[in-house]
Parts: sequence; C-alpha cells; structure tokens
Amino acid sequence: MINKNMLNLGKNRSAIRELFEQGKILKEKYGEDNVYDFSLGNPSVPCPDFLNTTIKNLITISESLKNKDGNFADIGILENYNTNYDYRKLSSTMLHGYTSAPGDKIVRDAISSYLNKTYNVNTSSDLIYLTTGAAAALSITLKALSSPDGNNEVIVFAPFFPEYSVFIKNANAKVTIVKPDYKTFYPDFNDFESKINENTSLVIINSPNNPTGVYYNEDVLKNICQVLEKKQKEFSHPIYLISDEPYRELLYTYLKYNFITNFYKNSIITYSFSKSLSIPGERIGYILVNPESDNANDVFYAVCGAGRSLGYVCATSLFQFLIPHCLGLTSDTTTYKRNAETLYRELTHIGYEVVKPDGAFYLFVKCPTSDDNAFSKKALEYNLLLVPSESFGVTGYFRIATCVTEKQVTNSIPKFNELFNFYKNR
Ligand code: PLP
Repeated sequence: MINKNMLNLGKNRSAIRELFEQGKILKEKYGEDNVYDFSLGNPSVPCPDFLNTTIKNLITISESLKNKDGNFADIGILENYNTNYDYRKLSSTMLHGYTSAPGDKIVRDAISSYLNKTYNVNTSSDLIYLTTGAAAALSITLKALSSPDGNNEVIVFAPFFPEYSVFIKNANAKVTIVKPDYKTFYPDFNDFESKINENTSLVIINSPNNPTGVYYNEDVLKNICQVLEKKQKEFSHPIYLISDEPYRELLYTYLKYNFITNFYKNSIITYSFSKSLSIPGERIGYILVNPESDNANDVFYAVCGAGRSLGYVCATSLFQFLIPHCLGLTSDTTTYKRNAETLYRELTHIGYEVVKPDGAFYLFVKCPTSDDNAFSKKALEYNLLLVPSESFGVTGYFRIATCVTEKQVTNSIPKFNELFNFYKNR
C-alpha cells in the first residue's frame, strides 16, 4: 500500500523548489538575465581550486595503484596544510569502497583535531558520524533521539528551515514552534519557556540562520541554555540541543563562532560542507555528539542505529577522503556579504523593512502586505522570485537568497522598487 504521507510529500514540492521550477519557465520565456531568481540557497561562487586539485590527485593516485594489488600510496604528501594532519595511505580500491559505517576513522580524527584546535574544544572522533549532508545528519539525529511511541516533541524557533518539520514528523515526533521576537528575530524567551514540557526531547537552533541571516551571540545562547538547564531539572530528563551549522563559516559581523559545546553539555552538532565549500551536490557533512553530554556513548550508538535503519551508512567515500585536506578552507564568500549589504541598503532605502543579517546568505524582508503568498505571486509579474515566509513558520515576510551574481542584485533593484510602489499606490 502506498504511504499517503510520503505520497503527499512527493506530490507537493516545497515552496522553495516550486518557485525554483517556476523560475526555469520564466527564464525560458524572458531570458536568464531578465529573471531575478532569489529562490534557492545554492552557492553561487565556485569551490576552492585546492578542492578540485585534491580530487584530481586522489583519483590519479588511486588510478596509479590499479593492478598493483596490496600496494598503498601515502596521500599525506598532498599536505593537509590546514591541520598539519599526517594523512593516510590509499589503496587502489579504497577511494570508491565502503568505509566503516560512521565514516573512515582517520577522516573523523582529522575533523575532531581541527575542531579542537580551531574552537578550543574537546570533541572526540569516536563521537563523530559522517553523513550525506546536514539533511541526513538531522534525519538521523532526530530519529535517534525521539521515542517510537510518538510522544516526543521537538522545538524549533521560527522562522526555521522548512525541512525540519519533514524530518521531525518522519522521526514520529511532534513539531513545536516557538515564535520570534520580531524586533531581533532571536527566540521569544517567554514563549520558549512556556512550550517546554515533559515530552520535549530536543530543541533545534540554526545560527547563522536560514532564512534571517541572524546570528545568536553569547547572550542569546546563554539565555537558551539557561532555560534548558532549568527545564531539564524540572522534568528530570535530558533535553538535547541540536545546533544545525551549515553556515558556521559564513559570518559577516562576528569574528568568532560560538561553539555550542562550550555553552551546553547536552549538545549535538549537525554540520554540512555544502555551503562553506560550495559543494551542496556532493552531500557530505557530519553529526558530532558532545563527549560531555549525558549518556554520550549511548546517544552515539543510537545515532549509529538510526543511520543504519535509515540506510545512511558510509557517506560518499571520495568526499570523506577529501575532507581532511580541506578543513578550514572556504570558497570566496565575500560576494554573499557584498550582495547582502547592497540589498539591505537599497531595499531599506525603497521602504522595505529588512532584518539585518549577520551571516549565511539570506535576507528576510517584511512584505508590504500581510499575505506573503500573494506577495510572492505578485513578485513573479516583475520576474522576481522571492520565497514566501509561511513555510518558515511565520507570515508576512519573504526570503531572498543572496548567493547570486552581483549583476543580478544590481539589476533587480528597480524591480523591487516597482513592486513596492504597486503596493504603496493601491
Ligand atoms: N539546515 C539548514 C538550515 C539548511 O539551510 C540546509 C540547506 O539549505 C540544510 C540543513 C541541509 O543541508 P545539506 O544540503 O547539507 O543537506
């Protein structure tokens, strides 16, 4: 029998994907340059050259070992200048072979030592699980930490990445939405406290944030953790905090990332290399369980079990072996920052209310009308592809993905102006 929930999910594309598809039609009709597609968070700057060179080198070495069974090449010579990590030996079949289920041990060692050195933390490679991107990392973690009886609740802070709801429901848990403080787009702390109950198993944070670009500074993080500590005591069970960090390196205004394990014991990180290295199609990321968290080893075993039950074992090997060489590298993300600055300045000047972003590559803007879906539809008449905010858990806003060319940004400004005037003159 067809699973109706899955049928509905498959039939109804996400609002973002739907818009992306409509954009393709508009581009065919009006030409690429005349459509201003701000729909998808697909990195628009190329990956670092070193990444492609390393892939080529790995393949060349692997090729050279063909027909030399039992021989290994020392790929440490590729020089992991980011971690000074003495890497491993590669055999002819390893590059495309299975690794161990949570990922190659030496790759996990490299990630852990890089994190410890960069953020002055104490992570353990034994508690890292490599995944096919942050999406798989989230699905696995949610499944691992939600009870199968369907009683658990997972708190998300609106506005949030829409796929969170999909992953939470698939883990048989309930989505609990906490509203934002609309002045700062930090969580509304009264609402947060009131929504935690004895069934709350998990809370997800995402900073810098998709869709607002807002970053949680130390005070905000401390407030979140204080509430959680208090509620853990009240309900006598751990409440785990997932810090979803695909945009960790994309910070504009802050120099240092607040690493969550320094703030809260019961923390788990879901990470992706998609955005920082411009490789979203390669699907590589990881789950990291804080060694200091309650029952850390069992949490990790449950992660392994959930990974197994979902079929997410052994993330793509070629990209696993690539990662130790690229830790600490990012694409040139300055375009995103410049685009955000230009759009913030110009849209504010036109009269839009824009949330000031601290990072990631999104801008969250108040619609000049209350119906964000109607606004997004109207925007299409101006060849502007803007994501309505409803699926992010709030209404009356739209999201702009700033990972586009600077030319697109500049050329789109008159269209934003015309659209604003349409509503002003009604
Ligand atoms: N989490 C957030 C907040 C995201 O914005 C995205 C992708 O856009 C993901 C997770 C999924 O990342 P990945 O492509 O690595 O699966």
